[in-house]
Amino acid sequence: MKIDVLALFPSMFEPVMSQSMMWKARDRGLLDFQAHDIRDYAVDKHRAVDDSPYGGGGGMILKPDVLVRAIEALKPDDQSPVILMSPQGRLLTHSVAVELSRHARLILVCGHYEGVDERVRELAINDEISIGDYVLTGGELAAMVLIDAVVRQIPGVLGAEGAQDRDSHSHGLGGLLEGPHYTRPAEFRGLGVPPVLTSGHHAEVDRWRRRQALKRTWQTRPDLLAGAELSDDDLAFLAGLIAEPGA
Ligand code: SAM
Repeated sequence: MKIDVLALFPSMFEPVMSQSMMWKARDRGLLDFQAHDIRDYAVDKHRAVDDSPYGGGGGMILKPDVLVRAIEALKPDDQSPVILMSPQGRLLTHSVAVELSRHARLILVCGHYEGVDERVRELAINDEISIGDYVLTGGELAAMVLIDAVVRQIPGVLGAEGAQDRDSHSHGLGGLLEGPHYTRPAEFRGLGVPPVLTSGHHAEVDRWRRRQALKRTWQTRPDLLAGAELSDDDLAFLAGLIAEPGA
């Protein structure tokens, strides 16, 4: 996958993109990442990228001529999403990350100040994504969140094949949250490890994990259960939880 980002602060990306899985993806040739400076596409002598809003009001707006020139310089093809990072966009979820990971190329546009001139959206943007219902200072951090969520879905990026399909929200977990994990030591500050995990009974471990995932989802994100893939066994277990919450 190739990802190009347009930003006013492109140097924010390299510290994140040169660590951990993002670096491994680049090192293995699975990700070609480049951050571009929007200011390089400003043509006036002050290299202005923003201007005051028509109609008055506070804040500055990213200029349409500079931003559209920058996007066009990246030569987007018809199939590639050109995504504006925006608190007004569709919400970034697991399924959006999986959907985006299937594209060969993404172009991400980071706004700043009050945002971007509306004509940029009309002329050069074909998708708009928010990372949550709050407002950030700029799109750079949001773009990094999106890139991480998308790139770890690319086959081969995570060490164990399909590891991402056991995480919370994944299809492999039926859209549930993952249950608790334990590692050594067997006892820590008076707290032990559930005996089933050291029993060696794989089927029992799987059953316990599924039930813990159901319990955790019900306790912390019951809204997810409406869209989850649930078996008759799952439904019976949930019915028991609801009837007897302390069990
Ligand atoms: N005035 C805009 C509004 O009310 O919708 C907010 C502008 S915000 C201060 C500046 C930039 O940060 C946005 O153009 C966008 O690129 C980015 N941004 C802020 N919050 C975001 C979010 N939740 N998700 C994605 N990008 C966000």
